[in-house]
Amino acid sequence: MRASQFFLSTLKEAPSDAEVTSHKLMMRAGLIKRLAGGIYTWMPLGLRALRKVEAIVREEMNRAGAIEVLMPAVQPAELWQESGRWDFYGPELLRFKDRHDRDFVIGPTHEEVITDVVRRELKSYRQLPKHFYQVQMKFRDEIRPRFGVMRGREFVMKDGYSFHSSFEDLQREYRNMYDTYHRIFQRLGLKFRAVAADTGSIGGTGSHEFHVIAETGEDDIAYCPDSDYAANVELAEALAPATPRPAVSAPLTKVHTPGAKTIDEVAAFLKVAATATVKAIVVDGDEASGNKPVLLLLRGDHELNEVKAQKIAGVKNPLTFASPASLLAAFGANAGSLGPVGFQGRVVMDRSVAAMADFVTGANEDDYHYTGVNIGRDFPEAEVADLRNVVAGDPSPDGKGTLEICRGIEVGHIFQLRTKYSEALACKFLNEQGKEQVMEMGCYGIGVSRILGAAIEQNNDARGIIWPDAIAPFQVAIVPMGYAKSEAVREAANALYAELTAAGIDAFLDDRDERPGSLLADNELIGTPHRVVIGDRGLKEGVVEYQGRRDAEATKLTVAEVAATVI
Ligand code: ATP
Ligand code: MG
Ligand code: MG
Ligand code: MG
Repeated sequence: MRASQFFLSTLKEAPSDAEVTSHKLMMRAGLIKRLAGGIYTWMPLGLRALRKVEAIVREEMNRAGAIEVLMPAVQPAELWQESGRWDFYGPELLRFKDRHDRDFVIGPTHEEVITDVVRRELKSYRQLPKHFYQVQMKFRDEIRPRFGVMRGREFVMKDGYSFHSSFEDLQREYRNMYDTYHRIFQRLGLKFRAVAADTGSIGGTGSHEFHVIAETGEDDIAYCPDSDYAANVELAEALAPATPRPAVSAPLTKVHTPGAKTIDEVAAFLKVAATATVKAIVVDGDEASGNKPVLLLLRGDHELNEVKAQKIAGVKNPLTFASPASLLAAFGANAGSLGPVGFQGRVVMDRSVAAMADFVTGANEDDYHYTGVNIGRDFPEAEVADLRNVVAGDPSPDGKGTLEICRGIEVGHIFQLRTKYSEALACKFLNEQGKEQVMEMGCYGIGVSRILGAAIEQNNDARGIIWPDAIAPFQVAIVPMGYAKSEAVREAANALYAELTAAGIDAFLDDRDERPGSLLADNELIGTPHRVVIGDRGLKEGVVEYQGRRDAEATKLTVAEVAATVI
């Protein structure tokens, strides 16, 4: 590509809303342009890198046996009502009406749509397993879009969904994807780690996240350098020393909270402040587990996204609990981040709970809550365990050493969904005995556009981006000093460009009539892995200057040596 036929739009300064290095550099290099919060146009240079990531993802997904499809961004509400997520997903789901007043959503994920396709198309065990994937634009109305494309509202995801006649076969495919994701992130040239993870609003049982290791990551990863143990700190818990329980002398009081749908509304009824002091709320359990209660911990500063559900069991009367529907209704806005309920068979407590004065619980009745809950009095003390997130130096749960903590950017997430969606949407097949059976499902996501931010976060210096070779928009930049003025330079640059292009190398010939200083600075900012500077002085000696983007100094090469160096 010649600069004169391309479009570059580099900036001297990053806009003030760009907090992290990758966002600043993506804006300065002109890879993306902001349209609205979390919504960006991919400019030609950025799009080239995005397409390279997509190509690697597609190659590896195809190699692993998955089949590409492309599903609609716009999805009818009925499917979301059928799966239960219309109520469950919360405000991250962008909803709208068409001209006939029918409800629709813009897909934040596609479990419902693919399950609908599969229930219509696949009827027999002979047609299973099948794994469909797509690379498609998602929309999530993130509460705080930031870091450019790393937490956008509109973003490109690779999402795959597999369907199986047995759990064993789902586990085989899950393993296949676990390995495939390792290959993908290795090929992308990223430092990453697979970690055990929470299942979030997608749901299901087993789950792993893939994290690019970077200081600016939004997740804490606990890992053991001496073993394979690695988990999102959200999930990794350690037993804390027993803390004194707050003596709540108030009597347990049942309060009528009619129609309260949000935590603020519940709090208003209960006359407690929905602030940082409402840190733990015992809420309703689910029927599948015999209405065992759930302890909901609001970590941090009462950010909706930071809600975390913890599970408790064995609670004494009168604390029995209602259905998950009432839990979700009460926490409408938070529901999307609750995730499915599974039980640990004991009462778990967060340290923050012990420090809390007001205790609030759900009651086993719609529209009722309890206040004045006293842990010691209303819960069997023996079943209360103090849990806290692990910290560096804690023993690894596998007993093989101590834990370290690092920050990570979640670039991939795989789930064993089991029958969560296939059951809700009646996605069934006839098994070998001719009996109807619900399909087992897995799902597998990669944040394709987030990967670009993550890659830059890991690979940059004061002068700009340093692209990993595999995803660089261009592999080599030819920068002639005086393309317009010197015929010798122009001829040498054109000849090298033709040679590299013919060899299948993505070469960029910067034939703009700009000052040498600004040409060099732009090309460093853009971060092309290899650069060849051609000038009259060198040509007289028969050489050009080659410099790898990470090299401290340039080396002189004959033109004939260039191709071999950059391949
Ligand atoms: P996060 O914890 O960062 O909000 P998530 O767990 O909600 O992500 P998943 O539902 O697991 O996301 O979606 C699969 C992948 O899509 C994620 O691993 C991530 O790489 C990517 N992704 C999710 N949300 C965004 C976003 N707002 N912008 C860019 N990529 C995203
Ligand atoms: Mg999210
Ligand atoms: Mg996540
Ligand atoms: Mg995730």
